[in-house]
Order: sequence, then structure tokens, then C-alpha cells
Amino acid sequence: SSFIITIDGPSGAGKSTICKMFSINDGFVHIDTGKIYRSIAYILKEVTEEELNKLELDFKIENLQVLFIYKGKILNDIILSEDIAKKASTIAKNEFVRDFVNKLARTIAQEGKFVIDGRDAGSVIFPNANIKFYLDAKLEERAKRRSKELSVDYSQSIKSLSCRDEQDTQRKIAPLVVPKGAIIIDTTFLSVEEVYNKIKSYF
Ligand code: C5P
Repeated sequence: SSFIITIDGPSGAGKSTICKMFSINDGFVHIDTGKIYRSIAYILKEVTEEELNKLELDFKIENLQVLFIYKGKILNDIILSEDIAKKASTIAKNEFVRDFVNKLARTIAQEGKFVIDGRDAGSVIFPNANIKFYLDAKLEERAKRRSKELSVDYSQSIKSLSCRDEQDTQRKIAPLVVPKGAIIIDTTFLSVEEVYNKIKSYF
């Protein structure tokens, strides 16, 4: 059996930072579902059901992080750009892609303690999670965090985040929503430690 925490929300709300803290402090394996979308966007030129069926995307758990591997190459650090993120957001509208990602995430979360972040982790992938959170923050703050993290222009970040917000909330399949029963935390004026402590106070 497994213990599952889901953390959903828009880009830049602080999900991955918080998930990493849950790994380091509490021994949870972190499954970043956005990284699976990014990996597919990085690997496939053309996304079809056939291409997905033969896609050999491997994973390995190391230091409580899930590494995504294609042809022996670890992808995690080469899929961080906003360019890949935008492609990921576009292919994330495809239901075959979503099925592929959901299956892989469920396969990884077989046995143990997992913290899973994404857009539909609590609504679609793990509707029976032990506890669900939804992190949000004002667009300006999220863009500020993103531009610092990736050392890119603030106005560029605003543009690409709002484009992704639009795609992620407006798509027909599994749009970004507050999952049923999720605890909502607005992180705009909170430090990482404050968000972490708040989440911890619930279990
Ligand atoms: O979280 P991250 O920014 O890495 O995600 C990249 C893109 O992948 C998102 O903009 C979103 O379109 C898509 N995604 C998704 N569902 C998830 C995780 C990510 O649609 N559970």
C-alpha cells in the first residue's frame, strides 16, 4: 500500500519546492508529473497514439527523486526551459498523452510514501489520495519566482506563464481545477517554510 499526498496548482505556485522539502525532511518520493509531460514533449517530434505506444520512457528512483530516462539519458535537468514547458502544455491537451502519463505515475506510486505534483494529480490521477492540496499565487509573484529560477526576463515570464495558465485551465480534458476535498493555500505572501509548515499542520 502507499500513502499519497497530491499538490496541484498553476506554474510557479511553489509546488516542486515544497515537494522537495517533503522528500528531504519527511522521506516522501517526489513524482513530478509535469516532468513526464516535459519528457514526452522533448522526445517526440510528432505526438500520436502509435508513437506513444512504442515510447520507452524509463524511470528510476534515486534519493527520493524520480529520474526520467530515455535511451540511457537522464532527462530531468535538460527539460527545465520554458520552451519545453510550452510544448508540454500543448501536448497535454491530448488524451493519449494524458493516459500515458497517468499510467506511468500510478506505476511509480505502488508502494511507499509519495508526494505528487501537477495539474490533475488530486482530481484525476489519484482521486483517492490520503490528502490533497492546491497551491496558488498571484501571476506577478509566480512570474517573479520563475524569472529568478530560470534567470529569464520578468515580462517574458509573465507572458509564458499566462499562456500556460490559459491552456491548462481551458483545455477539455483534465483542466487545472481545485480537486474535490483539496486544501487551498495561497502562497503569494508566504515563505517556503511557512507553506511547508502549513501543509504539515494538516497531518
Ligand atoms: O509543472 P510543469 O510546469 O513542469 O508542467 C508543464 C506542463 O505540463 C504544464 O503547463 C501543463 O500543461 C502540463 N501538465 C499537465 N498535467 C499535469 C502536470 C503538467 O497538464 N499533471
